[in-house]
Amino acid sequence: MIFRSVTLPIFVRYGEDILPHLREILEAENLTFKRASMITGHLGEHLIEELGLVRHFQEAEVLNLRKRDDGLSELKSHILGSRSELIISLGGGSINDIGKYISMESSIPLLTIPTTLSNDGLISPISILNLDGERRSLGTTIPIGVVADLKVLRESPKMLLLSGVGELISNLSAGLDWELALKRGLEKVDHMAKEMAFNAAYKLLVKAQSYEGIRDKGLIEDLLNGLILSGLAMIMAGSSRPASGAEHNISHAIDRSFRRYRTLHGLQVGFSTLFTLLLHGEEELLSRVIYLYKRLGFPTSFEELGLRREVFLEAVLLAPKLRDRYTILNEHKVTEELIDEVYAG
Ligand SMILES: [Zn+2]
Repeated sequence: MIFRSVTLPIFVRYGEDILPHLREILEAENLTFKRASMITGHLGEHLIEELGLVRHFQEAEVLNLRKRDDGLSELKSHILGSRSELIISLGGGSINDIGKYISMESSIPLLTIPTTLSNDGLISPISILNLDGERRSLGTTIPIGVVADLKVLRESPKMLLLSGVGELISNLSAGLDWELALKRGLEKVDHMAKEMAFNAAYKLLVKAQSYEGIRDKGLIEDLLNGLILSGLAMIMAGSSRPASGAEHNISHAIDRSFRRYRTLHGLQVGFSTLFTLLLHGEEELLSRVIYLYKRLGFPTSFEELGLRREVFLEAVLLAPKLRDRYTILNEHKVTEELIDEVYAG
């Protein structure tokens, strides 16, 4: 029999105040680890102390990466030398990206404890890392599990959560681009993966009215699950296609050529999604996304994002040249007037 096989995390557990029960959560999955290395930042270190997370293991060391100035290979050697059986990444996207990379390089399993939800890298097999002074996207391993404390996530900085919303919503535009490439006979579409990522984003639109702002309990849960589903979709598809289309290309163009205007990844892709939905002629979808954004306080104008219209136009023109991925930008002559249809007023 022929099947596709993919590697998935063993478990995802989330709930209110669940971090103090870390050991029980692992034991419920038949997982026991004596020695653990916890990689984290300043806030994470504080959380580890406050919740006494070290006591869940016979031996555990806390590695605050903001205090250490060694590189990734020194960090890997240190963790291998400590004979840790588990790496825990406790923090935001960049800490998790480092965790996934070190886990792959050392063959030590990784447990992810997110402290915010700013992007879809939670379980995706990709890390964005600074290597040799260059920002690079690398294929990495995935965590064995995710333990997410909804209370910790809800209390994380508002802009990071908004970034997570933009990242998830960008799946709408990415899915439409993928379908477009299929229609033009240029690519195959993995419909299971596409639907999984698209519907995870669409759920936020369906429930928009019920959200009482960016820290709404239901929203945080939907955002967490949505970003995990995006990761699963990317694992299934074996590429970032289900969650990355023209809107990501525009964001890459800003990162690369207009660094002065760079902001959080999810804000850039979520903002650009408004424009790519217009190009796709998806006006109803567009107005529902704008409704969601306004309800949550997500930027919908250049002023709110801190970007200039001229810079955005240049980024849009540059975007299709950056990556060999067919999108709606390959089919439109973009003008300032078109941009104004979405972002003016
Ligand atoms: Zn992204």
